[in-house]
Amino acid sequence: MTVSEAKTSLKALQEKMSAYGHALGLLYYDGVTSAPRGTAANRGQTMGVLSEELYKLTTGQETVALLEFLDGHKDELDEKEQRMVFLLLKNIRQMQKIPMDEYIAHEKLVVEAEDAWHTAKESSDFPLFEPYLEKLFADARRFAGYCAPDKDPYDYWLNEFEEGLNREKADAFFAALRSHIVPLLQKVCAAPQVDTSILQGHFPEAQQDVLSRRLMAVMGLDPDHVGLATTEHPFTTSLGSHLDERITTHYYEDDFASSLYSVIHEGGHALYDTGSDDSLAYTVLDGGVSMGIHESQSRFYENLLGRSRAFCEYLFPVLAEIFPDQMAGHSAGELYKALNKAEPSLIRTEADELTYCLHVLVRYELEKAVMAGALAVHDLPAAWNRLYKEYLGVDVPDDRHGVLQDSHWAGGAIGYFPSYALGSAYGAQFLRKMKETVDVDDCLRRGDFKPINDWNRQHIWQYGCLYRPGQLFEMAAGEPFDPSVFAAYLEEKFSDLYGL
Ligand code: ZN
Repeated sequence: MTVSEAKTSLKALQEKMSAYGHALGLLYYDGVTSAPRGTAANRGQTMGVLSEELYKLTTGQETVALLEFLDGHKDELDEKEQRMVFLLLKNIRQMQKIPMDEYIAHEKLVVEAEDAWHTAKESSDFPLFEPYLEKLFADARRFAGYCAPDKDPYDYWLNEFEEGLNREKADAFFAALRSHIVPLLQKVCAAPQVDTSILQGHFPEAQQDVLSRRLMAVMGLDPDHVGLATTEHPFTTSLGSHLDERITTHYYEDDFASSLYSVIHEGGHALYDTGSDDSLAYTVLDGGVSMGIHESQSRFYENLLGRSRAFCEYLFPVLAEIFPDQMAGHSAGELYKALNKAEPSLIRTEADELTYCLHVLVRYELEKAVMAGALAVHDLPAAWNRLYKEYLGVDVPDDRHGVLQDSHWAGGAIGYFPSYALGSAYGAQFLRKMKETVDVDDCLRRGDFKPINDWNRQHIWQYGCLYRPGQLFEMAAGEPFDPSVFAAYLEEKFSDLYGL
């Protein structure tokens, strides 16, 4: 085999992997959007077969020989090829450590667990979901043990979702945020409360759908490559490559802001994924590099831009056009204040920018305790309710509004949550850097996202997974990570909003 032949095989291998990923992704997407209820077992069967084939392809002898050959000829590879080989080999070395039957059983478990979670959430029935969650945590612990026997299992997963993260760093990060947020929240709660009547009323789903499509266009999402559907818990997924992206939302007819910000959040993820350079399509470098950087983009659009005063000035006339009766007699200023009302609440996805990180902190503490064996899955609901009382001061009425609210654990994603808080903090530094060269507020007031998207594309999106997340962060932000920038941003914004 010559190096040139091996490079051709490397390309073909990734195209094949991408095709399996496309099929698996589409099956998953169908399952959580429009598939009939009774189809989960069939889908689980098919996904099991496809996962087995993908596993064989990814870890097979031929693939390993090819990658090791290329790894031995590193200096003849370009930067992208070197990174592809590195990532593929890293993945193989990890997957080889997980017995194939356990890997396949896990894939099936996730499909069944998500189905059980849907039913359990609807009926607020934690015991129905509990046996699945037991198994998911057990798998997470066991798989971490196979992949990194010397590492703490939760540290292993934190690092999987955000390279470089461990409990020590996360503890320090959350402690820093908590020390700023809790006293600020106390001052906000003691201040005169903002009027939110502009958000109240009846907002028919059909008109909310018009608003979603309008927002997607304003954000610069290409309707030929980004689809929108409805689901219980909004999410984004790439299918096969950055050329096929799907986002989802959930409409509540008494609350247009919920879907509004789901669309902007998921739209931020989709912008990031679809912003990969075209040369990365059908390779492992395509799409976002880490969960933390991904959330930095989604939460950047959702909060730093979407909940800014400047964007509300653009948004209000749009809302007045779509919901003329509901917006009559209101103003952009009222909208800005209402959309930023900060108060302790129950649901993470609808939490304001200020309290959001406390919701994440609850999940972090619980995952850490369950993974360490210090908390039984059976006791999660009670522990959840206790921490919500302690950190946010709220009483959780039932598990639907408590421990069953998020889909992440059902999907097997344990260690994902901290990346939401990290992403929020990354975004504040990106914004500060962007403002050196882009008049962000002026763009937002005019509903012109192009200069903002161009900056993000140039500094972040185009690279896909070419650089490690920490490296990419510093390249884009022009400085090391510093959570105090985010804390200062919150302090300034909420002091101004509440006249503190
Ligand atoms: Zn997200």
